[in-house]
Amino acid sequence: MALKLSEKPRVLIVGGGYVGLIVAQQLQKKVKATGGVVTLVDPLPYMTYQPFLPEVVGGHIEARHAVVPHRRHLKDTEVITGKVTSVDHEAKTAVVGLDEGESVEIPYQDIVMAAGATTRTFPIEGLAENGIGLKTIEEALGLRNHILERLETASALTDEAAKRRALTFTVVGGGFAGIECIAEMEDIIRASVSQNPRLSQSDVRIVLVEAMGRIMPEVSEDQAVGVVEHLRARGIEVLLNTSLSSAVDGELTLISMADKSEVDKFGTDTLVWTAGVAANAVARSSSFPVDERGRITGSATLQILNEEGDVVEGAWTAGDISAIPDLTGAGPGGFCVPNAQHASRQAKVLAKNLFAVRYGTGEVAEYKHESLGAVAGLGLYKGVGNPMGVKLKGCLAWAAHRGYHGMAIPTIERKARVVGGWVNELVFGRDVTPLRDLENPTKAFFEAAGGGKKKAKK
Ligand SMILES: Cc1cc2nc3c(=O)[nH]c(=O)nc-3n(C[C@H](O)[C@H](O)[C@H](O)COP(=O)(O)OP(=O)(O)OC[C@H]3O[C@@H](n4cnc5c(N)ncnc54)[C@H](O)[C@@H]3O)c2cc1C
Repeated sequence: MALKLSEKPRVLIVGGGYVGLIVAQQLQKKVKATGGVVTLVDPLPYMTYQPFLPEVVGGHIEARHAVVPHRRHLKDTEVITGKVTSVDHEAKTAVVGLDEGESVEIPYQDIVMAAGATTRTFPIEGLAENGIGLKTIEEALGLRNHILERLETASALTDEAAKRRALTFTVVGGGFAGIECIAEMEDIIRASVSQNPRLSQSDVRIVLVEAMGRIMPEVSEDQAVGVVEHLRARGIEVLLNTSLSSAVDGELTLISMADKSEVDKFGTDTLVWTAGVAANAVARSSSFPVDERGRITGSATLQILNEEGDVVEGAWTAGDISAIPDLTGAGPGGFCVPNAQHASRQAKVLAKNLFAVRYGTGEVAEYKHESLGAVAGLGLYKGVGNPMGVKLKGCLAWAAHRGYHGMAIPTIERKARVVGGWVNELVFGRDVTPLRDLENPTKAFFEAAGGGKKKAKK
């Protein structure tokens, strides 16, 4: 049976992350009132609040609370859980792959390309098999459990090499995500080790690998140097100007960026890759032109541009998948950097402009936003940042990080769940329980039901 679709004129939103969720929220009722429909397509049934992923790893936020479910919060939107595989703007149709392998062609009047970015990797042998990214809630939850499980398992290992490998944790990439991640990892590792009498803190090795000579380009040089000192004081090995050249079987080879000589070689069961993002490949599967970095080129009004630089009718884009001019002049290469600040603000301008153009209700506005600065959490009561240009570190920065993101996660319901979790943690302390067999939840039943045993002979 074919997927039941609305026959009304459609605003099709490709991707339900920051941009997609906000555009749908802003347009769903207005478009419905004009006799149209807003349709949102995303392979995930929720928007992921990515700035909270490191806090999910650290165990301060329950994984489900860091996502915003589409159906609950987009009641007037036609939600389709599927993946857009191609867009033909001349025919004004998009093909959507559904979960069970079927696909459906969806017609539209206006399209919003908002599929964000995916983790960018390099062809390093063994990376795909042994690494994990930090872009999805599943990765954050999986990483947290994996770390806690490795610690528990290591505490019972007698083979010294296997134990060392289980207790070695590596993050590649010293951007915001990587630094927040390794800081949260260190925090939860130390907390877990302190509860396990068979482990000592000196058994643990935590390594950060960064190819550039500095970390965190979003903060000033002196703040970045301060963060390196802070991480080293916590026992984290910070290796700058160093890159990963091989990860076969979890055996890492690190080389110097200067002369490609070997810096270190060691085994690890935990390899986190946070070394950058790239525009989602669906951009290239669409009929819209992309730039050399695979981004859809947009105007400051968030309209997609054709090869001649003219506006394409009925086509819009914003967020990490797009190259939007930064009218403040601050963006590298003249474009907005891929971050949530731009994505969420662009989404609001896009929704207004789209409605104004389609229904002739007003002029289109140009997107221009001065950065509010950045704040990073580095584990409980620790942080760094420059919100509104004010340099902060330690507890103040951490409070600013929590205050900002606690307010910024969409919907009151999700804000309440996140803040409620933080209060619980302050009262009862950090929860370091490793959940077992998450990837094999049928194991207990299989064993109980005698699965795998030979049938008794009659
Ligand atoms: C760990 C981490 C921490 C971060 N911290 C910060 C921070 O502190 N401050 C900040 O400003 N920014 C931060 N960011 C960046 C920020 O989260 C992104 O810039 C922002 O999410 C971009 O919004 P978007 O809507 O463009 O893309 P996304 O929010 O990534 O949404 C894209 C959506 O498209 C969907 N999609 C993908 N492919 C398809 C397809 N083929 N068809 C349909 N849908 C598809 C995805 O499932 C996803 O839901 C962080 C990012 C990470 C990974």
